Amino acid sequence: MSPKAPITQDVMTIPRKLPEGKVNLVGLTRDQLREVLIEHGTPEKQAKMRTGQIWQWIYQWGVRDFALMTNLAKAYRAQLAENFVIEIPEVVTRQVSEDGTRKYLCRIAGGHEVEVVYIPEDDRGTLCISSQVGCTLTCSFCHTGTQKLVRNLTAAEIVGQVMMARDDLEEWPTPGAPKDETRLLSNIVLMGMGEPLYNFENVRDAMKIAMDPEGISLSRRRITLSTSGVVPEIARTAEEIGCLLAISFHATTDETRDVLVPINKRWNIEELLQALASYPNASNSERITFEYVMLDGVNDSDEDAHRLIEHIKRHKIPAKINLIPFNEWPGAPYKRSSNNRIRAFANIIYQAGYASPIRKTRGEDIMAACGQLKSATERARKSRKQIESEAGLG
Ligand code: SAH
Ligand code: SF4
Repeated sequence: MSPKAPITQDVMTIPRKLPEGKVNLVGLTRDQLREVLIEHGTPEKQAKMRTGQIWQWIYQWGVRDFALMTNLAKAYRAQLAENFVIEIPEVVTRQVSEDGTRKYLCRIAGGHEVEVVYIPEDDRGTLCISSQVGCTLTCSFCHTGTQKLVRNLTAAEIVGQVMMARDDLEEWPTPGAPKDETRLLSNIVLMGMGEPLYNFENVRDAMKIAMDPEGISLSRRRITLSTSGVVPEIARTAEEIGCLLAISFHATTDETRDVLVPINKRWNIEELLQALASYPNASNSERITFEYVMLDGVNDSDEDAHRLIEHIKRHKIPAKINLIPFNEWPGAPYKRSSNNRIRAFANIIYQAGYASPIRKTRGEDIMAACGQLKSATERARKSRKQIESEAGLG
């Protein structure tokens, strides 16, 4: 661990208070599920088998009602229903964009809301999920960063977003039917609201559940975690989650990155690059994605493009660079770079031998694009002054 303390001390996970003290089984690891079954009367000898059965009902078949778990004895099903619930976030609104992108507003405990976005493409369907309500970090170009209210999501609320989307896409298989290999929901990106590495354990447990072969069973290579650069947690991400990594890089000098991604003041570009260079999973087949938001006149010059390549080459990082046209939001202090500028920037990177896809803006008409997420009922906006002073601009 770095001697530097994380920025976020005020974030807590508040476990959901359930009616009549019932325990939610969603989001528990297999070990936790087994323990909780034993605590509530399942004989120890049977616990392993019951855990496997219940796990499959919840995560493979999407069943939420104990009465439907037909391979369990009736009396046992009743006992389960007395003690437990199988509960996921509730969908409050669902918007469908002209391009097929779906944005869900979900309610979680405490009346908080998070946004989840589903992006269909020809060869895949990606679900962009949130890890926190709001974000304690204050990247100056990000709408989520202007939201005051913050709490960590529980593992149940994180994997629950995936289950909610599978409900809406009607993608749970029916018992006895053959496995469907062509999934509507084939990929997960942790790129919604919040900084996933400031909610490490819950994100890890939720993604482990999503990868479990006897359930949702997504390959670890189909899950991408995006971080603004919480350096001490980066190696752990490879070891304990094993997913792909994306970094919100966005600037090529510390001076500019300090403003755009203020966590840079804690762990600067050099420290970040060193952590990436030693990311245990990084290889040519599992490259690290450098996310780079294109802001007019701020970080989009030819010199920036050359410097970016120089950073990556110097550290020999297997990388691809994902250029994100800035998505505007009300009161945003930046403008999107012109298409010509973005293409010129992409070309320099491409000539240097790196993939430089320009991210297609999806769902903009429903404010579902990157960095536009912010729940409607929690528009407690920080003032522009506050944003600027926190970003070191004021
Ligand atoms: N907190 C994490 C993950 C959520 S943000 C992180 O920062 O990486 C997901 C991506 O959207 C990040 O790369 C972020 O920098 C980018 N983003 C944020 N606001 C944006 C905006 N207004 N336009 C385009 N991209 C934005
Ligand atoms: Fe938080 Fe990521 Fe937005 Fe920065 S870009 S404020 S880390 S959600």
